[in-house]
Amino acid sequence: MHVYLNNKLVLSSDAKVSVFDHGFLYGDGVFETMRVYDGVVFMLDEHLSRLYRSASMIGLDLPLNFDSIKVAIYETINANSLKDAYVRLTLSRGYGPVGLDPELCKEPTFIVIAEEFREYPRTFYENGIKLAIAETRRNLKKAINPQIKSLNFLNNILAKMEAKDRGAYEALMLNVSGHLTEGTISNVFFVSDAGAYGGHTPLLCTPSTSCGILDGITRGIVLDIAVRDGVMVKEGEFTREDIYKASEVFITNTTMEVMPVRQVDEVSYKAGNITKLLHKAYREEVRAYVTNIKGSGPSLWGYE
Ligand code: PLP
Repeated sequence: MHVYLNNKLVLSSDAKVSVFDHGFLYGDGVFETMRVYDGVVFMLDEHLSRLYRSASMIGLDLPLNFDSIKVAIYETINANSLKDAYVRLTLSRGYGPVGLDPELCKEPTFIVIAEEFREYPRTFYENGIKLAIAETRRNLKKAINPQIKSLNFLNNILAKMEAKDRGAYEALMLNVSGHLTEGTISNVFFVSDAGAYGGHTPLLCTPSTSCGILDGITRGIVLDIAVRDGVMVKEGEFTREDIYKASEVFITNTTMEVMPVRQVDEVSYKAGNITKLLHKAYREEVRAYVTNIKGSGPSLWGYE
């Protein structure tokens, strides 16, 4: 397997990072996860923009421009002969003496890992997964803003451990005000039946970014599809009782796409029509994106 490290492809056995790297010592860095469908990186520009945003929120300069990062990504995919893959970009503050001052590090470390995509079990999509609302609260926006996709993932890991202890696959975190935020690697949506908020149609609800969440790229696509297809949408502040009363729940992220939820804590849900509709429409969106990129002339990045 080949990995892209700083400025070139190397064998994964030779891809070594210093024990003095501040990504390792302090979690000082940012990352992105992308999905590759049939050789095409889905929503590449959006992921690179978010990487850039995360990096600038911690005062870290990208060592490469967007086009060079795209080349690095496609070189890594091609070197590993991948079609359906998972790509992880890691950007750390880099090597430097022990100490928190970012100026101790002269060069960031940049890594691209591409691996064959491992499908989630079919039963997850057929039956839905179980979520547990964790005691661990989501990071405060004014402490570590969840909009920074940072290498410091302990907040999420602690919540994930709680979920696993309770036999759930994913945790949901509340913020310090008790409002729903997101999962450890996902955004959450639920459907309130007609009448719940005074409306006449079911309402698709999701915590707003002001609650302190990562504004997932999948979340954005799902919201756009919902609006386009006439589903009423409400981004806002919700409590655990709101989700307990919901008729459908699902979570989203780049690798899971739209994943139905069958249980949150002790409350069960049926696989609902809105979840099914959005899952199908999301897959169509992916197909259209891939076809469009492939049809847009000779490949600059060599994915054909
Ligand atoms: N929230 C968190 C904390 C995440 O780590 C992720 C993705 O890993 C998401 C939400 C979903 O983001 P996306 O849809 O861009 O994958």
